[in-house]
Amino acid sequence: MTPDKDKSVQRNNLWAPWRIRYIQGLSQKSPCFLCDYIQTPERDRDNLVLWRTGRCLVVFNRFPYNNGHLLIATLRHIPTLREADPEERRDMMNLICDSQQVLSEAISPHGFNVGANFGRCAGAGLPGHMHIHVVPRWDGDTNFMAVCGGTDVISQGMTELYDRLIELSRQHHLPGRQT
Ligand SMILES: [Zn+2]
Repeated sequence: MTPDKDKSVQRNNLWAPWRIRYIQGLSQKSPCFLCDYIQTPERDRDNLVLWRTGRCLVVFNRFPYNNGHLLIATLRHIPTLREADPEERRDMMNLICDSQQVLSEAISPHGFNVGANFGRCAGAGLPGHMHIHVVPRWDGDTNFMAVCGGTDVISQGMTELYDRLIELSRQHHLPGRQT
């Protein structure tokens, strides 16, 4: 076994091996899964698309860093905030707020990470289509994935949480303040 192979095996075994499906998917399928989702509203439940507004889409991250990890993306395939117009920027900000509201009620996180990666060097898995991550956090959750690793278990949890968030969205008329 070469040193390189050794390294990749060790990395998969130690951390997030389920993400290999995401990495392989990116190289084999359409170059942009967000554009695929945007163009197929009839598959929103299968794709775990939570909300659509006139300018943005909110979808579950299928390869989450934590339970309830959502992505907020522009409908337009643009790489950075610089290309976003003021309405898109406002819509994304409102959707961050609404996402935190509905996730707070559904799963009571202690905090959130909200952020975006621009460019592969910064960790962007899909650098061509900008998206903002909303990641619920709990005290002491840093080892969550190591303990609960296993795509099937996570997927099941995501579908249940998706249904719960849809229900709460109806109750609270979210997303609100659409531009
Ligand atoms: Zn795209």
